[in-house]
Amino acid sequence: MKIVFLGPPGAGKGTQAVRLCGEKGIAHLSTGDMLREAVRVGTEVGLKAKSYMDSGALVPDDVVIRIIEETLSRLGWEKSFLFDGFPRTVAQAEALGEMLKTRGAGLDHVVYLETSAGVAVERLSGRQTCRKCGANFHEKNMPPKRAGACDHCGGELYQRDDDRPESIRNRLQVYEAQTADLIRYYADKGLLRRVSGDLPAGDVYAEVQQVLGF
Ligand code: AMP
Repeated sequence: MKIVFLGPPGAGKGTQAVRLCGEKGIAHLSTGDMLREAVRVGTEVGLKAKSYMDSGALVPDDVVIRIIEETLSRLGWEKSFLFDGFPRTVAQAEALGEMLKTRGAGLDHVVYLETSAGVAVERLSGRQTCRKCGANFHEKNMPPKRAGACDHCGGELYQRDDDRPESIRNRLQVYEAQTADLIRYYADKGLLRRVSGDLPAGDVYAEVQQVLGF
């Protein structure tokens, strides 16, 4: 099964994806996580991506398309995948469609986490991310057991540069300008499944499972 999670920054795509993939044995492909890792290690891709990411702009299509293609080739095209944060432009969606089609595969579901701007801002501005394993917490909605430390690996929690107010505003504008078109794009293909992203995480998860038929 091949699934895309679509929705603005702060919709809870990562939170839902980690849980679903953990329970169902699906490979979780987050381009944001892959890019942050490339920045951390200091690869050529990371050096190129960093300034875009810090300001909340999109990394150029060719860079992310190449990362996805390499990852799918490495893991095997026949596997079940959940794409989290990819595609983010129609050009990326078309490239993904083509790469799957040439391997005799295609997307099964695009889950759209419909989330209002107020809820998204509140989630992003209170988010705390583990430096080591990338797990996300929230100072109010999902606090770690021990302040400042990751529940899973004990790593240090920090606020992502792009979770600061100026970047958040920019990311939401970028989403409206460049990514929201994908709602229509996938609705026209009959793949869009809507869930209420404003609800608490457990309720969103129940809806996600329902639309996926799990
Ligand atoms: P995320 O963790 O999904 O919020 O992504 C963090 C940042 O990584 C985004 O604000 C972009 O700068 C970059 N990024 C992640 N995925 C993509 C993508 N599919 N296309 C372009 N840029 C991306």
